[in-house]
Amino acid sequence: MINQMSKMRNFNIRAPFSREIIAAIRAFQDNTYVHPLTCGMCDSDAPMMVLESGLNCKSCGHIQAWIPESVLRLTNPALAGNFMKEQ
Ligand SMILES: [Zn+2]
Repeated sequence: MINQMSKMRNFNIRAPFSREIIAAIRAFQDNTYVHPLTCGMCDSDAPMMVLESGLNCKSCGHIQAWIPESVLRLTNPALAGNFMKEQ
């Protein structure tokens, strides 16, 4: 059970983001069925802008240089699968 849980644990994907990953994150940010990735440093609830260097908060300028892998699992499962094999 513990092994199964650890295999399924979430992990972060770090910037710089490839074009494929940027497209997947943008699809996530535009998906109306999930809460978009928002800034953890200020009160803004606006979706963060997706750049190669990370997610950029339009309100305070913070750059978050990682995303949870679950974002890719939703928007590009094949891409997420590649990351899981590499880890
Ligand atoms: Zn912010």
